[in-house]
Amino acid sequence: MFAALLFSIINIVQAEPLVELKESFGDTVVPYHHAIGRKKSFQQINASIKRTGYGPRTFVRSDVHKILTKTFKSLDDKPIKLVYGEGSWGGKYKNKALKPHRTHKKGLFLDIFMPLKNRMGRPVYFPIKKDNLFGYAVNFTKKGKGQGTYKKYQIDWVGLITLFDALCTHGEDRIKKVLIAEDLIPALQDPKLKKYWAPIPKKCREKLHPIKVLGPYKFAGKNLLVDHDDHIHVEFK
Ligand SMILES: [Zn+2]
Repeated sequence: MFAALLFSIINIVQAEPLVELKESFGDTVVPYHHAIGRKKSFQQINASIKRTGYGPRTFVRSDVHKILTKTFKSLDDKPIKLVYGEGSWGGKYKNKALKPHRTHKKGLFLDIFMPLKNRMGRPVYFPIKKDNLFGYAVNFTKKGKGQGTYKKYQIDWVGLITLFDALCTHGEDRIKKVLIAEDLIPALQDPKLKKYWAPIPKKCREKLHPIKVLGPYKFAGKNLLVDHDDHIHVEFK
């Protein structure tokens, strides 16, 4: 009894604080609120969901922050450019889901946008703008080709596998699951990519789960299709 109580007290004392994810991790990662101007972005998004005063939407738990820092740093010398999306609310709102996501709370979630290539096959940053819901309303075909005004972009499948591998390597057992649009699964299973999947342990590959379309989401008076074809959703435990 005493031991159990002591253990729970230690647990409370050691509870990991939430830290805002804002470092730029060298050249590889551009935090999304840096790319678009932080104040504007968060005011815009907050206005869209009629909530104010919650602060930046990119908090992660400090231990998750360490994992992500290692992951992103390890990708610095790889030919991919990464942009991350939303994490959780911080401070006293940390237990509240970050809407419209059903989860994204307690600093245990992070969306990372797809690594992209341009027509020349060069890695480029994910296009983040106000009018594409900060990246979340960009859509891709099943083959990973950007649609509409984003035709010049192609999902970099090798880059995506590299990112997944790095997350698993640095997150190990702390990664609960990684969600990706089910439409994209066949492209990821292309035989040409087999050699890139091969070195990744099975227990790691099993963390990748398909997810269905989340449906249209009203933003700035427009119905935008928001799904997981533009980002992966990483869940920690
Ligand atoms: Zn997510």
